[in-house]
Amino acid sequence: MSKRKYSSPDSIAITRVKQSLQTNAKRAYEIRLQTGNGGNLSGRVPGTDLIVIKASGCSFEQCQPDNLITVTLGGTQIDGEGMPSQELATHLAIYKHRPDVHGIFHSHSPWAIACASRGDTIPTVTFHAKSKLGRIPILRVPDEATPAKLDAIKALLAADCNLQAFVQDRHGIFSFASSIELARYNAELVEETAQIAWFMAISDYLALNRGPDA
Ligand SMILES: [Zn+2]
Repeated sequence: MSKRKYSSPDSIAITRVKQSLQTNAKRAYEIRLQTGNGGNLSGRVPGTDLIVIKASGCSFEQCQPDNLITVTLGGTQIDGEGMPSQELATHLAIYKHRPDVHGIFHSHSPWAIACASRGDTIPTVTFHAKSKLGRIPILRVPDEATPAKLDAIKALLAADCNLQAFVQDRHGIFSFASSIELARYNAELVEETAQIAWFMAISDYLALNRGPDA
């Protein structure tokens, strides 16, 4: 672990980020946006080159200061127990490309994953989703945080400087915003929008297949 020391104000800021991550992780678990020990979330420590990210293997329900790990933007671990999430490289890529982003949320939410199996985007079928998120692209790359996946994410970010979320096919939602709370809201909205899109598609299918006497 690094010997690097941080000032007292930085330590206070890290504690605040950990408290916010803990609150938002528990909320996401309670509403079943993420079950089991999948998914991860992180927050940027304002005014520093640090982020805090969930440890690999613990659930959102179990998040506490010890398993929320501080790392530099270069990937050096500063504190915490265990290893940072396996998605650390993905989080770092987003933070480096988007200085405005201070929170990233990732969940294996079922409606979004099902909806991502077809098309290029999650249809923003509600006025709310369209106004808040605009476009929700689908990323089709191998699951692991490989250089190819990171390049594809950078291309998505470069194509839309206001991008707030995408869904990786067969994997889940990645959402990001100026705070971890807003990033969680974005993930909730993506999942809600995908569920509505599915219901509308089923409704259209049933209408198309209804017999003349129905
Ligand atoms: Zn994942």
